[in-house]
Amino acid sequence: MPPPMTREECLARDASDPLASLRPQFVIPEGVIYLDGNSLGPPVRASATRAAALVTDEWGAHLIGGWERDGWIDSGARLGGRIAPLIGARPDDVLVCDSTTVNLFKLLHVGVALRPNRSVLLASDDDFPTDRYLVEAVAAQRGYTVRWAPPRNWHGATLKDVAVGVLSHVNFRTGLIADMEAITRALHDAGALALWDLSHSVGALPLDLGACDVDMAVGCTYKFLCGGPGAPAFAMVGAHLHAGVHTPIPGWLGHARPFAFAAQYEPAPGIGWAVTGTPTIASHVLLDAALDVVGSVAVTATRHKAMELGALFVDIVEGELPGVFTLHSPREPELRGNHVSLGHPDGFAIVQALIARGVVGDFREPDVLRFGFAPLYLSYVDVHDAAIALVDVMRTEEWRDPRFSRRGTVT
Ligand SMILES: *Cc1c(COP(=O)(O)O)cnc(C)c1O
Repeated sequence: MPPPMTREECLARDASDPLASLRPQFVIPEGVIYLDGNSLGPPVRASATRAAALVTDEWGAHLIGGWERDGWIDSGARLGGRIAPLIGARPDDVLVCDSTTVNLFKLLHVGVALRPNRSVLLASDDDFPTDRYLVEAVAAQRGYTVRWAPPRNWHGATLKDVAVGVLSHVNFRTGLIADMEAITRALHDAGALALWDLSHSVGALPLDLGACDVDMAVGCTYKFLCGGPGAPAFAMVGAHLHAGVHTPIPGWLGHARPFAFAAQYEPAPGIGWAVTGTPTIASHVLLDAALDVVGSVAVTATRHKAMELGALFVDIVEGELPGVFTLHSPREPELRGNHVSLGHPDGFAIVQALIARGVVGDFREPDVLRFGFAPLYLSYVDVHDAAIALVDVMRTEEWRDPRFSRRGTVT
């Protein structure tokens, strides 16, 4: 294996990197190397002006008229149409609304109703907590059981009686990418529906839900899409399922004619029913501004750089500190998403010591140091310096300082 790039080689690489020109579009504090864009992406420069314009030029100027004049009422569908090409879905099948958690609840119920006479929801017990909790809750509400199995076992008897299989495309802890096409096909062959959580994939990996014949999907927009804290999520339901939908949250704005104020609920066609209530327009505006930047470059190019950044980080850390960390992520960059997870029993304190040096990653129980490599605002030299900072934190043992073991609410 060739040695990792030196600092000088990284600088040269940055000088010829076509993505480097995007960096000034993002707001990142001076002196910070941000490796947590897989949890909460930074703002784009235009976020502040767009938010101010909403208040001054739209809401402040048109008051309630903004719902029509400024297009707020169609914002979820419009943003869904902007997410669609990022995930390889039809624009009419995607809606931006609610949180990922609420969308999972809706689509799990929809999926169960579309596959009656079955008894099982299939999920993986190392999936993100919200996915696990929602599967259990919906199963209990519908009288189903949950079958837990790692995705590599999603074949044969594991698929018997399954109504819906739900899975994160990129595992939040390890970064392992699941084989969307093969798993979806196996579910279909067993008569089940596939519901994918794209939270760690959208904006990071090339996705083609259409080619993979995916039935339903959800995902969040505040990670690699930089929509901002609490940015609305998206829901995708394939056109082949639209006719049979029964929503568990029949909200007034998802009615076929909301302003008829009818006594009976009647779902809006297509994916329109997935609107549960009044959309969070201030957050929609921030997402729209972010998509102008994040959606402006081909994900194949950004993915290539992200794989190189992740490999550079791993190679430096393992080369300088052999045996100190366990690599929880797949070693091959092609098999993992745009984050890398290292295991160490003192991971929490190590991450805190790094943050004190301006290198921001995060910690996930029980022992995972997580580093995200968002290629739009990180340079090769950033990643080089972050790896050297980690090496230094370990060599000096500065993480042993008791102030790095104090825990807040958010890790
Ligand atoms: C981040 C994330 C979520 C977030 O759900 P919210 O409802 O937005 O809090 C859901 N699922 C996965 C896999 C995630 O990584």
